[in-house]
Amino acid sequence: MTLENFNKNLEKYARLIAEVGVNVQDGHTVVLQISVDQAPLARLITAEAYKLGAAEVQVQWTDEFVQKEFLSFADESRISKIPQYKIDQSDSWVEQGASRISVVSSDPGALAGVDSDRVAAYQMAAGKAMMNLRKATQANKVSWTVVAAASPGWASKVFPDLATEEEQVDALWDEIFKTTRIYSADPVATWQAHDKTLATKAAELNKEQFTALHYTAPGTDLVIGLPKNHLWEGAGSFNARDEKFMANMPTEEVFTAPDSRRVDGYISSTKPLSYAGTIISGMKFTFKDGRVEDFSAEQGQEVLAKLLDTDEGAKHLGEVALVPDPSPISQSGIIFYNTLFDENASNHLAFGSAYAFNLQNGTSMSEEELAEAGLNRSQTHVDFMVGSDKMNIDGIREDGSRVPVFRNGDWA
Ligand code: ZN
Ligand code: ZN
Repeated sequence: MTLENFNKNLEKYARLIAEVGVNVQDGHTVVLQISVDQAPLARLITAEAYKLGAAEVQVQWTDEFVQKEFLSFADESRISKIPQYKIDQSDSWVEQGASRISVVSSDPGALAGVDSDRVAAYQMAAGKAMMNLRKATQANKVSWTVVAAASPGWASKVFPDLATEEEQVDALWDEIFKTTRIYSADPVATWQAHDKTLATKAAELNKEQFTALHYTAPGTDLVIGLPKNHLWEGAGSFNARDEKFMANMPTEEVFTAPDSRRVDGYISSTKPLSYAGTIISGMKFTFKDGRVEDFSAEQGQEVLAKLLDTDEGAKHLGEVALVPDPSPISQSGIIFYNTLFDENASNHLAFGSAYAFNLQNGTSMSEEELAEAGLNRSQTHVDFMVGSDKMNIDGIREDGSRVPVFRNGDWA
């Protein structure tokens, strides 16, 4: 590591994750999911969380190599069934209202070559097993944050032209620190100001209550309906205890839930998507009455087909997010092959489940009521990038009048 002040910046990063990311308070349970390769960061986050008063920090270690071996060679029955004790553990986190920190660092191509049926079977089983946890997270009942750490595998995909592994990893850490504002004197205060900016945009859109958005760009002409009483959110969210947390760091997006039955037209992806350890790129989708009728991908078509086949909801949209093209991540021009970063470089949509908090009173509604309001229900949620500096978006009001929302990739 030759990055200047790396250890000091890693400490600032750990503090930001504990204090702003999940906003640890007295008596909280904190669950930290992190790779064994990131042990130094895991220890710093653990220390910061206890300093802030955590009752317990539980570290869930992951290992890419072990996981690949498991998916490649484990007995079929172990792949398609998650043991009960793991389901009980995940349910106990929900009961305790545990905060969750997920540190992502995996190589986007880590599972290339593994039988995609086995990967899909495992993801299906894990999706079912973690149902309660996912619902509690998606309804913001608990605090949660997704942050990144640089690993050699990932860094080599992002910076293939740098000569050494050390240079690649340093360059990726540098980007992580830049985009999470770690180089500012007081990252916690910087984040509070950034949060305010995004919240103001969300408030403006909430006042408009557009009935639909019309997207146009090369390869794109799509109308996306928005449900009545939809809520735009940006940056900070509040959990069931009314404590603020930051679900993603970095984050540049303002987002809401679409009406999953009112999406018509066609749209093209503008950045590759790393999904289930494979890269999918050059995607095109045609929608009718909210459902994908036709699709193609230049790369990863088979994996994309499996994703859309997860369940009925996987063929419908569950998120509409606006990110100005001048955002720092987009301007870096770097493709990170990681949704946490790439989604914050670009306007994006997601297949699968919508967030209940994107609807007024949504978090106290049943699954049936949410579906009735137009919020998509699914076991999956996968973002894909559609924005560019050539994208225009109009907001359509109830009376049919139009308001420019985005022009040439930026707020109008
Ligand atoms: Zn998003
Ligand atoms: Zn999303």
